Amino acid sequence: MDFQLTEEQKMVRDMVRRFAETEVKPFAAELDRTHRHPAEILAQMAEMKLLGIAVPEEYGGGGMDNVSYVLSMIEISRACASCGVIMSVNNSLYCFPVMAYGTHEQKQKYLEPVASGRSLGCYGLTEAGAGSDPANMRTTAVRDGDGWILNGEKKFITNGNVADYCVLAAVTEKGKGYKGISTFVVNLKETKGFSVGVVEEKMGINASGTAELIFEDAHAPADALLGQPGEGFRQMLTTLDGGRIGIASQAIGIGRAALEDALAYAKEREQFGKPIAEFQAIQWKLADMAMELDAAELLTLRAAYLEDKHLPYEKEAAMAKCFASDSAMRAAVEGVQVLGGYGYIREYPMERHMRDAKITQIYEGTNEIMRLVIARNLIKGK
Ligand SMILES: Cc1cc2nc3c(=O)[nH]c(=O)nc-3n(C[C@H](O)[C@H](O)[C@H](O)COP(=O)(O)OP(=O)(O)OC[C@H]3O[C@@H](n4cnc5c(N)ncnc54)[C@H](O)[C@@H]3O)c2cc1C
Repeated sequence: MDFQLTEEQKMVRDMVRRFAETEVKPFAAELDRTHRHPAEILAQMAEMKLLGIAVPEEYGGGGMDNVSYVLSMIEISRACASCGVIMSVNNSLYCFPVMAYGTHEQKQKYLEPVASGRSLGCYGLTEAGAGSDPANMRTTAVRDGDGWILNGEKKFITNGNVADYCVLAAVTEKGKGYKGISTFVVNLKETKGFSVGVVEEKMGINASGTAELIFEDAHAPADALLGQPGEGFRQMLTTLDGGRIGIASQAIGIGRAALEDALAYAKEREQFGKPIAEFQAIQWKLADMAMELDAAELLTLRAAYLEDKHLPYEKEAAMAKCFASDSAMRAAVEGVQVLGGYGYIREYPMERHMRDAKITQIYEGTNEIMRLVIARNLIKGK
């Protein structure tokens, strides 16, 4: 057993950490306040190949492994959780399925622009009536000559208001339940009949857009279908396994920021004539945060390692996402407590960490669904 990162992984982590400290963190509070899409930060991330980390270089990506993806996601999210989720969706939910299920031609056309960061991707699965139960989706894709006609509305889609491309799940055969679902890749900017609906006001991750995607008799060409009709549900489940590694990493980054800010504050703030870091009640909070975040990071690196080795990782990704997001939430709540009244005030970043952490327990499968996935695997003997 070797807990050492490779020289390349360390180099990637250190490079992304430097970039995040100097070019991302200083803008995080303003991005949260203004809800502005961080286009200039994403352009720099694209140059560093952070928007298609594990995509082969021939398709515009960084040609790195998933462990490097985790390390980079942690550093970006530690600086700005909104930038973290934009990066995670682009990598895990857009690039992964096009890479895994697309033909060479589809990868050239739909993967290269997004993996290189010239364009942005999103992932349309959730609908108003289909969240934890996506097989209940209503969006349809009906054959029209060589191509497809899309109708329906997707809800809560990260990057949906700014994305150029979307990996979209739709029903191609009604009455067949999950076996009637297929995956499409859609050029949103060139699709007549597509429009962006409501852009949501949220509790946190405010610089990442969360939007409705509306398809009204929208035409998609023949090459929009990924794989075969009816394979969409299985493709979606596999895509979300990798996505959960990304969200676990985002959560760890947010939790680390909460711990670092709480630690720095506790060493500075004096009450009763000494730094509050000398009170055992505060020390225990810091110790619990550090312990849980280290455990979360090990779980997440294990899941990424298994993915890199092409071994099963569904259960491990669900464990990582669930534990990391619960740990990040606890770290942020306790972080607010360590700062006392100042923790509740906008001037300090702690209340933002708390608002940002909460979503990691909800998206890409709620933590109730994560426990269901873990238990199902256990019962199957996996
Ligand atoms: C900011 C944000 C960004 C998002 N980005 C995307 C995106 O990019 N693409 C996309 O497709 N979706 C996205 N989503 C959707 C997200 O994945 C869903 O909101 C999430 O999966 C939960 O679905 P729901 O909101 O419909 O809740 P519901 O499924 O209605 O769940 C409500 C509650 O019931 C519980 N519950 C449901 N079923 C069970 C069960 N079987 N057992 C136990 N408890 C259960 C849930 O855990 C939850 O606590 C995003 C959501 C948000 C808020």
